[in-house]
Amino acid sequence: MSFRPCSRVACSEESAATLTFDYADAMAVLGPLAVQREPHTFDLCARHARLTAAPQGWQLVRLRTDGPATEPADGPDAQPAAGPDAESGSAE
Ligand SMILES: [Zn+2]
Repeated sequence: MSFRPCSRVACSEESAATLTFDYADAMAVLGPLAVQREPHTFDLCARHARLTAAPQGWQLVRLRTDGPATEPADGPDAQPAAGPDAESGSAE
């Protein structure tokens, strides 16, 4: 996996999230790092992802980006019951 730096000027942190602009709906979506870079997306490090705010007139939607998505936060006892996200990772 290649290193993907934060797209903010003067920041060389590794990206941890991707900000996607949906111009049709004036909506900015901040979510987990995208697998592929696409137009209208910006990779951000964890710090800049937290600091990001939507432009004037835009709605910012934050998806969960904190922590690894595939590991329980606090050990085996912290595993949630089966839910929409529990085992659907490879469904596609
Ligand atoms: Zn950054």
